[in-house]
Amino acid sequence: ASFQNMNLSRPIMRGIANVGFSTPTLIQQKAIPVALLGKDVVGGAQTGSGKTAAFVIPILERLLYRPKKVASTRVLILCPTRELAIQAHSVAVKLAAYTDIKFGLAVGGLSVNVQAAELKKRPDIIIGTPGRFIDHMRNSQGFGVDTIEIVVLDEADRMLEDGFADELNEIINTIPKSRQTMLFSATMTDSVDKLIRLSLQRPVRLMV
Ligand code: AMP
Repeated sequence: ASFQNMNLSRPIMRGIANVGFSTPTLIQQKAIPVALLGKDVVGGAQTGSGKTAAFVIPILERLLYRPKKVASTRVLILCPTRELAIQAHSVAVKLAAYTDIKFGLAVGGLSVNVQAAELKKRPDIIIGTPGRFIDHMRNSQGFGVDTIEIVVLDEADRMLEDGFADELNEIINTIPKSRQTMLFSATMTDSVDKLIRLSLQRPVRLMV
């Protein structure tokens, strides 16, 4: 399998070249075609498997082929820690280098007010941690989640271990049900299964 066979658009192919990837990893080979169809995905994949690009590439592609005239936040990516969110953000920005897709970060350790001002500009994609994202969701007027079309729960097992179950449920229940949801987890525990049942619809399960 190759990126060339995945029917990706030119700007995305250039973004992939920009990050220096030549062949898709196993999780990318499996997840990209399914995610491009808009299906919910459960990915059993570890850090190091290339899972970030496995969800970012189809997300960018889907944003490009259904453009919006008005700025609106269309994607939410949640990661367990600030470091992982910043890492995912950095890969995603490079993959999106040849598009005009805008990103926002919602993580701890940065000024809440500065971040809130950024999020009010309605970046296409917000990457954050559940704790900080929910603060923004609860506190800032003019920042709605009603336009979100795609949600990624990255390292779901870790987010649950870190005690974010209530935050995840509140966030998920506030976002329109018509969304596409992708969940990645290194382990499939009972609490991960419960989260899958609560937040995904007829997911395709990919284990690598
Ligand atoms: P991740 O599992 O998403 O944290 O990615 C782990 C590492 O693999 C990162 O440094 C990525 O830049 C790298 N990587 C991801 N996909 C590919 C690929 N298709 N070819 C080469 N390196 C990759």
